[in-house]
Amino acid sequence: MKRSYRHWALFLIVVIIVPCQQAVTQGKKPNIVILATGGTIAGAAATGTQSAYTSGAVTIDAMVNAVPGIKDLANIKGEQIANVGSQDMSFDIMLKVAKRINELLPTNDVDGIVITHGTDTMEETAYFLNLVVKSDKPVVLVGSMRPSTAVSADGPLNLYNAVAVAGDPRAKGRGVLVIMNDHIHAAHSLTKTSTTDVQTFLSPLRGLVGVVSYGKSDFYNTPPWKHTTASEFDVAQVTKLPRVDIIFADVDMSPDLIDASAANGAKGIVIAGVGNGNMNKVSVDAAARAVKKGVVVVRSSRVPTGLVGRNVELNDDELGFVASDELNPQKSRILLSLVLLKPRPASEIQQIFTTY
Ligand code: ASP
Repeated sequence: MKRSYRHWALFLIVVIIVPCQQAVTQGKKPNIVILATGGTIAGAAATGTQSAYTSGAVTIDAMVNAVPGIKDLANIKGEQIANVGSQDMSFDIMLKVAKRINELLPTNDVDGIVITHGTDTMEETAYFLNLVVKSDKPVVLVGSMRPSTAVSADGPLNLYNAVAVAGDPRAKGRGVLVIMNDHIHAAHSLTKTSTTDVQTFLSPLRGLVGVVSYGKSDFYNTPPWKHTTASEFDVAQVTKLPRVDIIFADVDMSPDLIDASAANGAKGIVIAGVGNGNMNKVSVDAAARAVKKGVVVVRSSRVPTGLVGRNVELNDDELGFVASDELNPQKSRILLSLVLLKPRPASEIQQIFTTY
């Protein structure tokens, strides 16, 4: 009698209770928090076909409510962190976003984060978060090229796809991602390439992390650089970042801007150099003067693709410069701002530029 009771109990557990629990777990929707910062995705115009509009005019709740089916993908909570065009994105807002993510992701009730953001400086915020988020859970930035009121607005489907990717366990451990126009980009590699085209973001050197179509993703690439949980950069106690200026190189450039930058308190200067991070002789001399004053000079390039290599046409070892490797000027500035939170020799900074 006792024995058959045990058999029944075992039957109940194996055949009924366990599968039921699995079904509940498998069917569970992920919990996604959307941190809204503004941008064209939250923009509005007076008509659906005009080019003039105001960025950051729509709230996150209105944006979510405008996307059919998005609430079937995930349990969504929205938080309005800012509502600016990303030309007005600042380190203050970026630090706020980073700190909020680092508060939310360690909890069991958040599976992923989506950040709505303007496209103008999206690559900078994405790369910044890639360096300072302390979790391998998905963090996804999304924007749009057309305002929410436009005919054929691209924001709603981009947002739908971003929520799907942020709730997808396969997105874990790939660093911060950007979703635009069905493409999944890595923060390290993407760059904005068109002022107006919906297909504006490209990852020219490394290609896509994956694609996403109507919420169905395919991942085929994992970025090889250090990021998030492997990153040494921590902004928990940081309220201000050191000043780093970008100076654009061109034909017959004057060295005055380099001298002015060093004289006005920049701790780092990124040269958006010609070709392989080059600049004319007078500018090399000015940059070398800046290095002697303790300013870190990074040579990046104004050319959209390709590496900036060390000791190619300039002797970086002698001049004390750092080569940006694959980072464009705007991302070099982000990395250098974090690097300069503590003093380091140029050799260590060079090593960081090739591993992050
Ligand atoms: N100026 C806008 C912004 O970056 C452009 C956009 O979002 O596409 O906020």
